[in-house]
Amino acid sequence: MSDNAVALPHFWAIIDALPIAVLYKEHARSRILANRAALQLFNPPLTEHALTLSDVQQLRLLSRDTQTPYDLLHNPLLLALSGTELTQPLLLAGEPAQNMLLRSRLISLSFTLHTSVLITLETDNSNSPAVLPDNNYPAPDISELEEALAFDKLISLISTELINVQDDELDQHIEDALAAVGEFCHADRSYVFQFNAKITEMSNTHEWVRSGISSHKASLQQIPRQALPYFYREIQQNLVFAVNNVAELPTEAAAEQQEFNAEDIQSVLCCAMLAGDALIGFVGCDMVSRQRNWTSNDLRRLKLVGEMLANTLQNVSYRRSLQQIQLQLQQANAELQQQALQDGLTGIANRRNFDTKLQQELQRCARHQISLGLLLLDIDHFKAYNDHYGHQAGDQALQQVAQLLPGLLKRQGELAARYGGEEFAVILPGSDEAACQQIAEKIQQQLNALAIRHQHSGVSKLLTLSIGYCSQIPDKNSSAEQLIQAADSALYKAKDSGRNQLMPCEKKGS
Ligand code: GH3
Ligand code: MG
Ligand code: MG
Repeated sequence: MSDNAVALPHFWAIIDALPIAVLYKEHARSRILANRAALQLFNPPLTEHALTLSDVQQLRLLSRDTQTPYDLLHNPLLLALSGTELTQPLLLAGEPAQNMLLRSRLISLSFTLHTSVLITLETDNSNSPAVLPDNNYPAPDISELEEALAFDKLISLISTELINVQDDELDQHIEDALAAVGEFCHADRSYVFQFNAKITEMSNTHEWVRSGISSHKASLQQIPRQALPYFYREIQQNLVFAVNNVAELPTEAAAEQQEFNAEDIQSVLCCAMLAGDALIGFVGCDMVSRQRNWTSNDLRRLKLVGEMLANTLQNVSYRRSLQQIQLQLQQANAELQQQALQDGLTGIANRRNFDTKLQQELQRCARHQISLGLLLLDIDHFKAYNDHYGHQAGDQALQQVAQLLPGLLKRQGELAARYGGEEFAVILPGSDEAACQQIAEKIQQQLNALAIRHQHSGVSKLLTLSIGYCSQIPDKNSSAEQLIQAADSALYKAKDSGRNQLMPCEKKGS
């Protein structure tokens, strides 16, 4: 806000934050202050809070409903701001409630961003009444204007809450809005119904009832289109269903009349809730105790609440689907990460995973000065196995060998990996050479127990493994390559000594 725009900065800060557009004309009449919502109402949106009357005259005030500019000559905003004494009723398309003759000097106007135009008026002229009677249009009395203002304030409060509503608070806020519209429309009951996507079914999701009035929400679930065809058609075509007297419904609305009679409803007013162009539901009011001729104010209020709730429900459903997508993405991401560390054929750790883990364990064991054991395993005469039994059988044998390994690992940091081809590696932190030997023996025993036939091995009738192992307490100069190299030399020796062997690596200096 520029310089000393208003004497009460706190007050203005509240006005500035309101979702209702407010233009405030200072008594000196030298300038007009616009809050943030008002700045957005014009096309193009304004950036300065303090405007002059001629600034305002340049503006194109758009109707949100039609996106067409208002006729500036009959723009009540300009007339009011210029202090013109009005001799014509203010006529705004689609807003008959605003048709009123005003004579006093107007000092403030507010526009809601949700309906095309809502004017709330105040006068600073205590000598003349704010509103004069007119022949054509009944004059709204001041209490009605005050009531309109009070309703707008309440709804703007609720809508502010709804902007950031948490899922668990949503129902309460919707019920608050229904209570507000029910009270202000002097209704006995107000409610929200939501349609399914194909508009073949509707359910009563929220309801407010005046005390002493019975609730019907529980019985109004999944009502099919065939049950109330007239209502479905009217709300879809006209977006409004207004019945002052249920007894006067046309004959084609016999089903509706029967339903309303069963609920003791005398008058009904419903307004569609839209998400874009799609009808998602409606908000409505019933009169039970007496019949009521709905006013344009009732319609305006219900439309406003319907629009607000439709936006909220849409936001919540967007937010839910975003959360759902986010969850799926996180799961997919976790799976991808997992896959990136897994061997595709056998499901155990892959070489990349092995390299990272060995490096980590090397450092950890060096820090704690504990042994780090490593086993390298290679299937004997596996080429001959493939050649004889086929590649698919070879794959299966690789899976069987791989599946033996994780079951033998218990301690923290241990890892079995496919090192490449028909070779596997096992990292054994905390295992000295004797412990490594024990595990290597168990692997061979368990493979033996699987008794996978290998007629062309030359070593045995069954599939066998050669294993090289070593263990050392690493220091800061130790490297993973050295350890692998040592285990690999031992494996080579095991092969050289006839295969189906366990071989420790050579001691340093030996
Ligand atoms: P040695 O006892 O000296 O280890 O003899 P070998 O035949 O096992 O060794 P060699 O390195 O000559 O052959 C390894 C074979 O492993 C050759 C290759 O087809 C097979 N192999 C490697 N990866 C796979 C795989 O993913 N699936 C199958 N079915 N076979 C594989
Ligand atoms: Mg090999
Ligand atoms: Mg081999």
